[in-house]
Amino acid sequence: MPFTTLGLAPAILDAIAAIGYQAPTPIQAGAVPAALAGRDVLGAAQTGSGKTAAFALPMLHALLARQGTRRGLHGLVLVPTRELAAQVGEAIRALVQHLPSTIKVTIAFGGVSINPQMMALRGGTDILVATPGRLLDLVEHNAIKLDQTATLVLDEADKLLDMGFADEIARILALLPAQRQNLFFSATFPPAVQALAGNLLREPLRVDV
Ligand code: AMP
Repeated sequence: MPFTTLGLAPAILDAIAAIGYQAPTPIQAGAVPAALAGRDVLGAAQTGSGKTAAFALPMLHALLARQGTRRGLHGLVLVPTRELAAQVGEAIRALVQHLPSTIKVTIAFGGVSINPQMMALRGGTDILVATPGRLLDLVEHNAIKLDQTATLVLDEADKLLDMGFADEIARILALLPAQRQNLFFSATFPPAVQALAGNLLREPLRVDV
């Protein structure tokens, strides 16, 4: 199945071609059309499955469509580690580089000074990839508002819970608009992950790869 059947804007297809992806991976083929239609997605996917593009491409498609009408943060991606924050943020930036509009992607994680991250958020951001604790610190410093978030992504939800982020996630969820899209990815589904998915997702499309 080619990328052209997924419903993505021509500019996004051009960016995918420029990056060199030939065909969607199974998680992309399953998740992208549902996400473009505004549905919640529950993705059972490992690292290496192409899950980053599975959630990034629909967010970029939506951002192209809303071009000119700047609102707040569009996409919030929660990740468990600084390494994953950097990797996911850079993967999204690699796609953005090939798009005809400026889409700002900001990366934030703990263990380093908060000041450069606060500076980076001045003037807003379209997509924020963050670890939960640092995100809450940034909210407390009034560096970011979450009340316009259109899409929430939980990447490696099992690892987020393993690392003890359940309380932080609950606090973040309380700051998000009730009306939003949720894209939930996890490699494993122990009971705590199932419970979080059950709380978060409304009639999700389930994609197993
Ligand atoms: P991820 O699972 O998102 O970390 O992606 C794993 C690797 O697969 C990354 O190096 C991506 O650049 C690459 N990748 C993602 N989607 C595709 C695709 N459709 N075709 C080829 N490579 C891809």
